[in-house]
Amino acid sequence: MARTEEIPAGRASARILIVEDNPLNRLLFHDILQLRGHEVLEAATVDEARAVLARSTPDLVLLDVQIPGGGGEAVIREVRKRRDLAALPIVAVTSLAMPGDRERLLSIGFQGYLSKPIDTRTFGAAIEAFLTPAAEVGGKRHVRHRR
Ligand code: MN
Repeated sequence: MARTEEIPAGRASARILIVEDNPLNRLLFHDILQLRGHEVLEAATVDEARAVLARSTPDLVLLDVQIPGGGGEAVIREVRKRRDLAALPIVAVTSLAMPGDRERLLSIGFQGYLSKPIDTRTFGAAIEAFLTPAAEVGGKRHVRHRR
């Protein structure tokens, strides 16, 4: 984990879980977020995501919609059942690009949507926008809860 003084002013270090089954994408997301001072956790399947969430509480989840074991929707359903994770921001990272997909993802509990291939120049800031405490997300006032 980066030391506090290495993190640019105005940006806090967060613990971010990347759930993505493509190893190259996972590495890319990992490197971008770690370079920006974040602690990165990784999972490639629904089962692995479940295992990580059983032992740690991330500040944000980056969730590939198409992952083995039931897809990102299975992860969303489990997270939203947990009271301690009820306000956890979950951002879809997906190559789905059919009309209506964005609306469908937001309706099942994702706070946001980024399409693949990602833009490496804007990806980090786009993710961090979802970390802002009390940010307007999904049309509702989002307040982060910490244990
Ligand atoms: Mn995938």
